Amino acid sequence: MGLFPQQFIDDLRLQANILQVVQEYVPLKRAGTSYKGNCPFHNEKTPSFNVHPDKGFFHCFGCGVGGDVFKFLELHEKVGFQDAVRMLAQKFGVAIPESEGSSDDSRRDSALRETLLKAHEIAAAYFKEQLSAPPGARARAQLAERSVAAETIAQLGLGFAPSSRDGLKTRLLKQGFHQSVLLQSGLIVQRESGEVVDRFRNRLIVPICRDTGSVIAFGARQMDPDQGGPKYLNSPETPIYSKGRTLYGPQSHQGADTQRRVRGAGRGVF
Ligand code: ZN
Repeated sequence: MGLFPQQFIDDLRLQANILQVVQEYVPLKRAGTSYKGNCPFHNEKTPSFNVHPDKGFFHCFGCGVGGDVFKFLELHEKVGFQDAVRMLAQKFGVAIPESEGSSDDSRRDSALRETLLKAHEIAAAYFKEQLSAPPGARARAQLAERSVAAETIAQLGLGFAPSSRDGLKTRLLKQGFHQSVLLQSGLIVQRESGEVVDRFRNRLIVPICRDTGSVIAFGARQMDPDQGGPKYLNSPETPIYSKGRTLYGPQSHQGADTQRRVRGAGRGVF
């Protein structure tokens, strides 16, 4: 099954000027209605590579390669047909249609991302609540020792993950999330025994936010050096979180400068 409709491919082939495309890679000289040059696909001193812009194809009498503009890019850039199509559509400013299948997929993906964002919003609220509650007493004391002001705690949206094995999991299941979705969120993990537990336990939590303010992941620092696991534990990559592309940040809209400052503060707290 082709990814693109045939009509789109045919139209693009007409629009994508083969002479213009080939000339970006191969110097050509006019010879009647066609153009000649040294073949880029075999080694030669006398030009036997021909481009026929009126017919939309190229052909080499030396090595026998030939085809349309898509074929040329496939061979020259060593890409597949679909990628050659994308490259040419972009180059000639032709919009790529979404096939039925891919728009279903993208609807499904976007529904999943929305669900994961919602789960993170609830998780961030849960961690904050725990920091203010009795289980968060030691975390609050640690922050005070490090002179982290209440204002900073609020601005960073800091929280605390209690030692409970499944406090967050229970909260999210009660809110109607399916366990399979929660496993994709990275907020809970399945152990080798099959048991499903909260990823973050007995840890100080800082939310990782998109520049729009949505929480998309968490960073977590252990409370006790001997509690097991790494000192710093971050969310895994998920459909809403790619490492290296996001900031530690506040949950409200802020300018870039503020974000940078807050990111620094987030690291200091940790
Ligand atoms: Zn050739």
